[in-house]
Amino acid sequence: MARVPHVPLAQLPTPLEPMPRLSAELGGPRIWVKRDDQTGLAMGGNKVRKLEYLLAEAQELDADIVLTTGATQSNHCRQTAAAAARLGLDCELFIEHRFPDWSDDYRHGGNLQLDRLLGAAVLNFDKGTDTTIEMDRRADELRAEGRTPYVVPLGGSNVVGALGYRTAAVEILRQSDDRGFEPREIVHATASGGTQAGLLAGLAIKRSEVPLLGISAGAPESYLGPIVRDLAEGVFDLIGIERSLGSHAVVIDDSHVGEAYGIPTEGMHEAVAMCARLEGLLLDPVYSGKAMVGLIHHARAGRWSPEDHVVFIHTGGTPALFAYR
Ligand SMILES: *Cc1c(COP(=O)(O)O)cnc(C)c1O
Repeated sequence: MARVPHVPLAQLPTPLEPMPRLSAELGGPRIWVKRDDQTGLAMGGNKVRKLEYLLAEAQELDADIVLTTGATQSNHCRQTAAAAARLGLDCELFIEHRFPDWSDDYRHGGNLQLDRLLGAAVLNFDKGTDTTIEMDRRADELRAEGRTPYVVPLGGSNVVGALGYRTAAVEILRQSDDRGFEPREIVHATASGGTQAGLLAGLAIKRSEVPLLGISAGAPESYLGPIVRDLAEGVFDLIGIERSLGSHAVVIDDSHVGEAYGIPTEGMHEAVAMCARLEGLLLDPVYSGKAMVGLIHHARAGRWSPEDHVVFIHTGGTPALFAYR
């Protein structure tokens, strides 16, 4: 494998835990949860694995300030702010406020409160602003001032970020093997595509046939599918290995989004409460909550047999619970 810069930020491997009471409630399959909400940096989440590679690249380029973007309650922005703090880099967050008339908790609490606490500068933009253009403009301005900015894309989802997620797939294969099973399927929330692409790359690197089901938190399958495929193939190129994804490898179920990204659904309330009350497990309202709606739907519809083992990846986001009363 080609050498790619890496800086350790996460506590790995994250645990793989059984969910016996949820499994019994649904009448099977046997559900396991991969605790990527426990990656350990400032309340954890899936972006930390990506940031280990993204911010290593920033350091290699001698960057002194990191720019990134997301929605009001972006977990990605919070984890980037924390990683930048840990590495002694300044951080500016380009936040798009899509729900300006929602509660104070939503507009100022949860992740956004933590962004500020972590020392990031928060720049606010109206719904519909192309914050990527705004970041590029600001990066030019910073360069003119003699600074060295590093721009992390939305969700940390470029090839370098996606590379970081392959380790989650490798961990799941090893941890399930240690417990004497092979997952019938791995289920997770998908949004900007880097997580799914990294997982697919990790499975392909290990020559595993275990299928992966991404449950969309926003984008339609027709839009997200090609992005995931390109990112996964980019990972193979980056590390210099000959692999390709089969034609059916990118599987996305986009039927649990509801009205739009970030807008609660009845199913999400049910799924978050079920996991809390049956397992003491806190999901989040935007990603893992809706992904669990998808898992519950497919379990009830008989996608798996009661004896099958299914791994659900908890990708994090719990601080957003405090923004959604
Ligand atoms: C960002 C995020 C996701 C989606 O990951 P992508 O790589 O953007 O597809 C899922 N869950 C949580 C909690 C997230 O913050």
